[in-house]
Amino acid sequence: MTSNKNLVPRRDFIKTSALGLSALSIGLPLNSALATSCGSSGKDKLGIALVGLGNYSKGQLAPSLLETEHCYLSAIVTGTKEKEKEWAEKYNIPKGNIYNYENFDDIASNKDIDIVYIVLPNSMHAEFTIRAAKAGKHVICEKPMAVSAAECKAMIKACNDNNVKLSIGYRLQFDPYHKRIINLSKENTLGSINYVNADFAFTIGDPTQWRLKKDLAGGGALMDVGVYCIQACRYSFGQEPIALRAQAFNSGNEKFKEVNETITWQMEFPDGKISNSTTSYAMSVNSLFVSAQKGKAQLMPSYGYGGIEGFIKDEILEFPKFNQQAAQMDTFALNVKNNTESIVPGEEGLKDMKVIEAIFKSLEQNGARILI
Ligand code: NAD
Repeated sequence: MTSNKNLVPRRDFIKTSALGLSALSIGLPLNSALATSCGSSGKDKLGIALVGLGNYSKGQLAPSLLETEHCYLSAIVTGTKEKEKEWAEKYNIPKGNIYNYENFDDIASNKDIDIVYIVLPNSMHAEFTIRAAKAGKHVICEKPMAVSAAECKAMIKACNDNNVKLSIGYRLQFDPYHKRIINLSKENTLGSINYVNADFAFTIGDPTQWRLKKDLAGGGALMDVGVYCIQACRYSFGQEPIALRAQAFNSGNEKFKEVNETITWQMEFPDGKISNSTTSYAMSVNSLFVSAQKGKAQLMPSYGYGGIEGFIKDEILEFPKFNQQAAQMDTFALNVKNNTESIVPGEEGLKDMKVIEAIFKSLEQNGARILI
């Protein structure tokens, strides 16, 4: 645990220094001494293993783990040999805490790993979540939770069977701007919410990337960024959709041979409330609009890691810089330590996946109304 000096805040350093001295005096390596003295449930900071060291792990999660209070980057799992040295040096990862996709299951005996964070292409989420659960580790799995509702159910079951917690990487539910939107329906601030418009799209680059391959991505923009719109509609209303209709648009661009380019869909919520959404890999849109009896709310841009702007009725929203990923991981670490439930458990990912499946079903049936 202390091998990663960069990650230990001052107050923890004082504790670990003292532990380090006694470890040295009895001839134990520092890591094993700490694991022994703290026990897996009594640790100050829980160890997180990142599985898949691509852009999100490298650019967001690992740097955020330098800011977390209740967890730290203790291990890595990668299929790329060159990344091992780079990451080990940068984040002080001991050799014994570096795994690949083949020997991944050996994490079962590693006491430095409490939580496994799956940051792989979408179609690999289910396999690695289930393997992590069988190894007795708690899991954070990136969005979309998987590529089918059946996979989501198998992941939830594996975590339940092995008595470990499962949380989905829905970082926005920890963000102060989105929390204000979530609270609208809880606190009835603007009266009944009648309409939500949630759009998220970007222009995709490299035509060879996994996001454009059906077998790895499970679908196009809907799987990737459309899932934020589904989430936003659900938490803006504070209710579950009961039916939907969907339409797909394709310009014929070669990039979109395997997955949809643009999808729009409309969801029906109880009492005649409706939402409208667009997701695409061929345009740039990023907004959430809520219309209610007593006023409107909007976030634009809405779904990024920062730079969110918006208002609720007459109030311009303004929050200090906030690290969504650090908050998300710290909250889950506390869930594990205190044995409380994640606010974004596997069931939350399953609900979104059922909507995604209904959207694809509607597309197959030329925009027919599908009950969810
Ligand atoms: P990426 O392409 O940058 O990284 C993917 C990683 O998986 C790479 O390290 C790659 O080597 C590895 N990999 C293993 N097997 C692979 C295979 N067969 N094909 C391709 N890559 C393989 O992707 P990313 O942007 O880091 O996305 C990873 C996951 O994280 C996705 O599920 C994505 O939806 C999610 N994500 C979430 C957020 C968020 O804000 N919550 C942001 C970005 C990505």
